[in-house]
Amino acid sequence: MKEFDLIERFFAHRSKQRKDVIVGIGDDCAVLRVPDSQQLAITTDTLVEGVHFVPKSPARSVAYKAVAVNLSDLAAMGAEPSWISLSLTLPHADAEWMEAFSNGLFELLDYYSVDLVGGDTVRGALSLTITAQGFVPQENELKRSSAKPGDWIYVSGTLGDAGAGLQIMQAQSLPLQADKLSDEQQYLLNRHLFPTPRLMLGQSLRRVANACIDISDGTLADLKHILKASHVGARIQIDRLPLSDELVAFSGLDNAVQNALSAGDDYELLFTVSEEQKGQLETVIASTGIKATCIGQVTGQPNKIDLRLGDVPFAITEHLGYEHFSG
Ligand code: ADP
Ligand code: MG
Repeated sequence: MKEFDLIERFFAHRSKQRKDVIVGIGDDCAVLRVPDSQQLAITTDTLVEGVHFVPKSPARSVAYKAVAVNLSDLAAMGAEPSWISLSLTLPHADAEWMEAFSNGLFELLDYYSVDLVGGDTVRGALSLTITAQGFVPQENELKRSSAKPGDWIYVSGTLGDAGAGLQIMQAQSLPLQADKLSDEQQYLLNRHLFPTPRLMLGQSLRRVANACIDISDGTLADLKHILKASHVGARIQIDRLPLSDELVAFSGLDNAVQNALSAGDDYELLFTVSEEQKGQLETVIASTGIKATCIGQVTGQPNKIDLRLGDVPFAITEHLGYEHFSG
């Protein structure tokens, strides 16, 4: 298949035209209209085969996840997604693989009315770079740097599931045979392959949360980013970490806690809320129906994380979270 046929069939043809897309796929640039009252939020994430996803991962998941991780960054800023572009490097153009890839790509895009407005397609080792753009009203962006001592620390959903899903994936012979997995293994695997960007929650946290980040590298690793940017510390109650029944059944409580603290790829939001805004947050939780759990409190000691099990200090081995250039 030729490059242009591939772009036409799997990308251009399937892309819906939002009203604010003046020029979409097919010209030298996309031309897009930003509403007057809004700011543009932009983020890029790259997924490389063998680094960010297991070789021979299902094509639908590879594309879905690439979109999800980018939309998750927009969610963490309180932004509403509008457009993405896709730079795709492919070893060969296999129609069946491309069909599944394109299906995965447009699942979240169509659901959130986000347009694919351009990109690049080249030959090489499998890798995808997505740039996502979205809108956030002025002075409503949720930053990492605005946590205050005394704020309550919350996380959405449950933690550690995706890490267990990765272990399950690595133990399988590929391509996956899903029918060989138990229901709980299937659930955990799906949390790894098809993460949920918390877009509704992120937008609802505008003017409610002080600081926000999405958990991509691990809860403690990403919490540290907030602490550093905000010059504060945190006390975290290990006994309050939200764990799925599936995770506890699969890994046992100790490993589940370890996963919840340090495994990456959950794409839940971690955010801080002042005592005064707690009531507002309860309203947000009730209206979005998204689970959010208070796991601790911001302290005045810069960069210090104090882990507690009840009132007792809790020790954990260092190396928390995923880093690309460690060692
Ligand atoms: P140029 O040589 O001007 O960069 P290309 O031949 O790379 O143009 O791309 C042709 C058109 O197809 C452009 O509008 C580009 O944005 C779009 N395009 C290329 N690859 C992709 C892709 N993977 N996803 C979406 N649009 C793409
Ligand atoms: Mg090009």
